[in-house]
Amino acid sequence: MSDDYPPLSSSTTGLRCACPRCGRGKLFHKVLETRNACDHCGLDFSRLDSQDGAAFFIIVLYSAMVIPLAVWLEFAVEPPFWVHVVVWVPVVIGGSIFLLRPLKAWMLAQQYKHNMFSEDASG
Ligand SMILES: [Zn+2]
Repeated sequence: MSDDYPPLSSSTTGLRCACPRCGRGKLFHKVLETRNACDHCGLDFSRLDSQDGAAFFIIVLYSAMVIPLAVWLEFAVEPPFWVHVVVWVPVVIGGSIFLLRPLKAWMLAQQYKHNMFSEDASG
């Protein structure tokens, strides 16, 4: 059945958080929870699992961007502690979720593209 669909760019489907096979169905039904299957082509998503890969890259790369900004703010402005809380908590949580969705979708698309996902495999 996957032969009926032309190969799609995992970057494109990842950025759109779309099904890696058809590119039309939605991959997530909550913020970061994957659907059981594609609502367009019926691809079973239950065998796709990015585990903690996306979270690891977000932690490493996003913290490398945010921590220098927090240090710069501290030394440049010397704000009270509550300013750091008000600024950086939303930046860290919101930015992580914003980046985690497409990165997780890209990793799942890579699994599908490189046949690490098999409809014939058991377990
Ligand atoms: Zn689909």
